[in-house]
Amino acid sequence: MKIAVIGGGAAGFMAAITAKETNPKANVTIFEKTDKVLVKVKVSGGGRCNVTNATFSISKLIKNYPRGGRELKKSFNHFFTTDTVNWFESRGVTLKTEADNRMFPSSNSSQTIVDLLLNSAENLGIRLSYKSKISAITPIENGINLSINGETLHFDKVIIASGGSPKESGLDWLKKLGYKIIKPVPSLFTFNMPKNPITKLMGLSVPNVITSIKGSKLRQSGPLLITHWGMSGPAILKLSAWGAQDLAKANYNFSVQVNWLSMNEEELRSQFSNLTSSRKQMYKHNPLDIPKRLWHFMLNKLEIAENQIWNELAKKNKNRLINMLLNDELEVKGKTTFKEEFVSCGGIDLSEIDMQTMESKRHKGIYFAGELLNIDGVTGGFNFQAAWTTGYLAGKNSAL
Ligand SMILES: Cc1cc2nc3c(=O)[nH]c(=O)nc-3n(C[C@H](O)[C@H](O)[C@H](O)COP(=O)(O)OP(=O)(O)OC[C@H]3O[C@@H](n4cnc5c(N)ncnc54)[C@H](O)[C@@H]3O)c2cc1C
Repeated sequence: MKIAVIGGGAAGFMAAITAKETNPKANVTIFEKTDKVLVKVKVSGGGRCNVTNATFSISKLIKNYPRGGRELKKSFNHFFTTDTVNWFESRGVTLKTEADNRMFPSSNSSQTIVDLLLNSAENLGIRLSYKSKISAITPIENGINLSINGETLHFDKVIIASGGSPKESGLDWLKKLGYKIIKPVPSLFTFNMPKNPITKLMGLSVPNVITSIKGSKLRQSGPLLITHWGMSGPAILKLSAWGAQDLAKANYNFSVQVNWLSMNEEELRSQFSNLTSSRKQMYKHNPLDIPKRLWHFMLNKLEIAENQIWNELAKKNKNRLINMLLNDELEVKGKTTFKEEFVSCGGIDLSEIDMQTMESKRHKGIYFAGELLNIDGVTGGFNFQAAWTTGYLAGKNSAL
């Protein structure tokens, strides 16, 4: 059996290794258009490679995928985070879990993962064909023809693992086969707030806020970081991932609402009522769990005098302050891509694929894996997990 894997990334290597291990007699070739493989694995996780996430319940794991979570449930039943950990550990690479559940190689180096995948492929006799761009796929009666650098080669099975494409035109060669493509747009980006005075607080981190997009149901929580261009941090990045399609449609002009205290109005009013007899100055006595710089910024913005005493705060100003603390509205104009873990959402529509086997429903013998599918996760190792799972299933089922 001749199996071609298109793309030498995480998904392609997992697919090729699994195919060869499933059927040692198969002839497996990885075609990579550039002269390097596993480039993203190498740079991932700040050079440490966040391989997966220590979430060992399928129902909890799928909540981390703005697109594809529901469909991945079927795939995770066959290859889950526990299988990823075993897969690497049984090949001599132990993983460690950090406080936020992200899992990295114990070596703290992505090179360990690159070496393992490369050595496994080599030991199994998988062929690596560099500078081999596949420009067309033609399903024929007894297999599939691939056009590679002007040549036509015949295969029994083909696994397409060519990664995410920031532009829709990058997927034209697959569109020609009739596949439904969801227009790719960036996911995981930070919010630009040009000239907003809040950017003067750059570097300030607020540990637990609730963020939402005005006029939508999108809502996330977690740490928020104020940057010199706007806002970042998990509470913003998660919101960008879940809102990726809507925010692209709005051309990245929208309002974000921040609840700086992760509290409801009743709770805050009750805290404030304890201060009604306080003779302390508001600037000096900040009873809330927010950084001093942010507290002073808010009082300044509301033009509350520096010597304002708590029990003399006018009702109107108290209401304005409560509104700012719980429902601060900031205008966003544009985005900045979060370079560390950029992913694109969109790609091949999952209705085209049998998620238990990753085989195309349209063409027998063609399989899909990795980021070219309309699957994307938030940061934390979820994108690699999707690549390992879909790569494993494509490799196994193509080789049977
Ligand atoms: C900087 C950065 C850091 C990241 N860090 C993490 C992290 O720590 N944890 C995490 O879970 N996710 C992370 N991600 C996301 C993760 O890297 C990707 O989701 C994952 O690598 C996708 O793997 P893939 O094999 O599907 O695609 P890719 O890794 O993109 O591989 C696809 C390959 O196919 C080749 N190719 C494309 N078209 C053709 C063609 N026509 N013919 C032949 N070859 C072709 C490409 O050159 C490429 O080598 C990070 C992403 C980036 C950019």
